[in-house]
Amino acid sequence: MNPIEQDLPAVRSLSQVDAMATAVGSSISEKDCPAPSITAKTNLLGMSRTELEQFFEQIGEKKFRAGQVMKWIYQFGVIDFNEMTNLAGKLREKLARIACVDVPEVVHKQFSNDGTRKWVFRVGEGDGSLVETVLIPADDKSGARKTLCISSQVGCALDCSFCSTGKQGFQRDLTAAEIIGQLWVANQSYMEDVPVGERTRTVTNVVMMGMGEPLLNFDPVVASMHIMLDDFAYGMSKRRVTLSTSGVVPMLDKLGEQIDVALAISLHAPNDELRNELVPINKKYPLAELIPAARRYIARDGGLESARKHVTIEYVMLEGVNDHPEHAKQLIQLLRELPSKINLIPFNPFPHAPYGRSSRNRIMAFQRTLSDAGYVCTVRTTRGEDIDAACGQLVGQVADRTRRAERWKQKVAATGATGAGEILRTRG
Ligand code: SAH
Ligand code: SF4
Repeated sequence: MNPIEQDLPAVRSLSQVDAMATAVGSSISEKDCPAPSITAKTNLLGMSRTELEQFFEQIGEKKFRAGQVMKWIYQFGVIDFNEMTNLAGKLREKLARIACVDVPEVVHKQFSNDGTRKWVFRVGEGDGSLVETVLIPADDKSGARKTLCISSQVGCALDCSFCSTGKQGFQRDLTAAEIIGQLWVANQSYMEDVPVGERTRTVTNVVMMGMGEPLLNFDPVVASMHIMLDDFAYGMSKRRVTLSTSGVVPMLDKLGEQIDVALAISLHAPNDELRNELVPINKKYPLAELIPAARRYIARDGGLESARKHVTIEYVMLEGVNDHPEHAKQLIQLLRELPSKINLIPFNPFPHAPYGRSSRNRIMAFQRTLSDAGYVCTVRTTRGEDIDAACGQLVGQVADRTRRAERWKQKVAATGATGAGEILRTRG
């Protein structure tokens, strides 16, 4: 066994995933800050307003301090208590003694010619403890829209056959501080040279579409999204925060109870037989359960400003696998009672991937069939390919260091398979 593999925890199985889907607790996160103190300090990053209010009450201070501190951290990017000038000197000293604002460490950053930015964060020891975040600017000329693709886990247990994160296996959940810290760092990259009083939020949209399955790291993800929406923090519009899931059905209902954000479903196949191959969690929660769960999510009355007007259906275009005209027709049937917009994603290849990207003509024909049936159907432009930041390539070089990736490579080598159909028949 090679020394890197020895450090890796076991990969979660689908049955463990099911257990996780029903057992989720909530707690205030505590973390050792990298301060020269031997006492563990409380990390204030990633605490929702309610949690922060509780924290201030517990230390004998007024609740409204929570809002003040949140504004400093998230709106002005200030994490040194000494610079929080509207707090009394004694309180600043006390906070410096017992608390910290611990932002995840950036080990690599890369800015692409097309405006895309990528950060690699270290969230633990060893090579397997890296996650990536990508900022994608708008296609429109104004360039005003900036969408941040955030990771929720290190790796992913769900092993979708076209996804490089899935090939890496699961390492661990990210904390709320590590999740919201990605947004903090992205915003900060535009504010560093701006005087504190003139700083404004630059990231306009967030999609939980980086590494990991957000619904399997429920509490930290929901806490982070509450901070995104909170007027004392980022004050983002509900419709500009999107959670993407491959379909962890029980957690979808729970999500609907706890927060109102936009929902994307990674569908990728219009029938169970094909979806079982591409998105294995479909064996546990088949389409007959997933589609009604998505309907229940948007059926909740969130008022005029609700983000729950429709579901975005993500559909990766895999050459000769799911891009046949018949698949488009099946998709129309499947979605007939679900208000949805469809986003076709040209497949992003990665080393040893058993698929090819559908041709432009195939994608356009697929899009036309769906548009003719009355659907709003867009084709995602692939951005940031020059820095390996396109969707599904997030883990880049990091991904290939796990046992699962090794097994996958050995399987490809052993079968001598070359095409998608061939490798799918050999998958165990
Ligand atoms: N686990 C969640 C969110 C992260 S994946 C989910 O599956 O929805 C984010 C999106 O990227 C999903 O729609 C996923 O299917 C897509 N994706 C993964 N690998 C891809 C690849 N190689 N090419 C294109 N899209 C990919
Ligand atoms: Fe996990 Fe999403 Fe990748 Fe599937 S597509 S393996 S759920 S990150």
